[in-house]
Amino acid sequence: MKRLKSADMSEELNLKRAIEQLLEIDAFFTGDMAVKGPALNFPEPAGFVSPASPAQLPAEVKQAVSEPVIQYKIGENMTKTQALEIIAEQVRACRACPLGSTRLNAVPGEGDPDAAIVFVGEAPGADEDSTGRPFVGRAGKLLTDIIAAMGLKREQVYICNTLKCRPPGNRDPLPSEKDACRHFLRSQLDIIKPKVIVALGSHAARELLATDEAIGKLRGVFQQYKTSPNASPIKLMPTYHPAYLLRNYSPDNRRRVWEDMQLVMAELGLKIPKKQVEKE
Ligand code: SF4
Repeated sequence: MKRLKSADMSEELNLKRAIEQLLEIDAFFTGDMAVKGPALNFPEPAGFVSPASPAQLPAEVKQAVSEPVIQYKIGENMTKTQALEIIAEQVRACRACPLGSTRLNAVPGEGDPDAAIVFVGEAPGADEDSTGRPFVGRAGKLLTDIIAAMGLKREQVYICNTLKCRPPGNRDPLPSEKDACRHFLRSQLDIIKPKVIVALGSHAARELLATDEAIGKLRGVFQQYKTSPNASPIKLMPTYHPAYLLRNYSPDNRRRVWEDMQLVMAELGLKIPKKQVEKE
């Protein structure tokens, strides 16, 4: 049998990946998904610490967890992974608002510390509360499908929420809870320094952009987010929350989200498949 040369093999791999990506886009536009369902079994990313098993952290990281404001200089006194793990441990220990007493598990976030994209949702739901992981329910499955349609894997991005603990009954977060929790997300974004933040849904977009504007007006246009007044701005794309998309799974809404993601892909230099999505 004729052996494939490495150039042929890489062409074959690229083709396979392109086909998989097109299938994911097809699934996104034709999939039939229900809002309710059990937590899904996504592979845990490297560095993920199960809420059920105490973290095996180096001594210097354990000490930093107890400090109210961690002093990190990435590359000098700690790595991004260590800094994010300190934040995660602080979140798991946090009782700064009443949600710290009603949650089952805090949900700090997970993913690649060097991710070019950070997806930010509103707050954990029941599946996330019981597992300690972000976006693991049906909405998480849809988000994972969207990420795959972009030609990426879930482990290649970072996923978290503005609020780290579940509001009882999935009610809207209170202003006092958002105020108490805000610094955690700000620190995570400051450590990761992604090229693009995708704000999923009106709560995340309003929180990050400090606006009352509706998501329908905000989406589809890049905004800017700064972790501090002197920090470099990060491009932020607001779009619909996957849970909203599941409840309103119309071709128009799917097309709008896919258009938003194509803008993000263009910004990151990701290849956009040629598939044209028909307007209804
Ligand atoms: Fe702390 Fe945020 Fe959880 Fe409130 S929601 S207890 S501020 S981590």
